[in-house]
Amino acid sequence: MSPERRSWLMSRVGSKDTLPELVVRRLLHSMGLRFRLHRKDLPGRPDLILPKYQTAIFVHGCFWHRHPGCSKTSNPKSRPEFWQAKFYANVQRDARVVSSLEAIGWKVEVIWECETRDKVKLEKRLRDIFCLDEGWGNRP
Ligand SMILES: [Zn+2]
Repeated sequence: MSPERRSWLMSRVGSKDTLPELVVRRLLHSMGLRFRLHRKDLPGRPDLILPKYQTAIFVHGCFWHRHPGCSKTSNPKSRPEFWQAKFYANVQRDARVVSSLEAIGWKVEVIWECETRDKVKLEKRLRDIFCLDEGWGNRP
């Protein structure tokens, strides 16, 4: 990794625009889908919303949000009670946010960080979510 790249990555730590989010945004954009970011007036401030599809997308880090069955969802060895409580709170909050959004008519999708590694699979996943056909038909 180059020093520039490293410092770019470090500069992103703690910012709300994570790399997996940027991957999803770029892909949606390339698919010609319109979205908005971090709408404060919606429960949980979804990472992305697609007003046309009344769909909110969260791009979740596997570790913090406990992706079920994912290899990145490891348990830290030290202070297990602390981590269990923290993870539990995160998962509970996520579930609350999903039901609040659904209650006001939004569809909610979660894209996991590990799903953003494989762009081909991710694009297929997004096409499935938005019921788009393969190929040129839906290109702008
Ligand atoms: Zn994962």
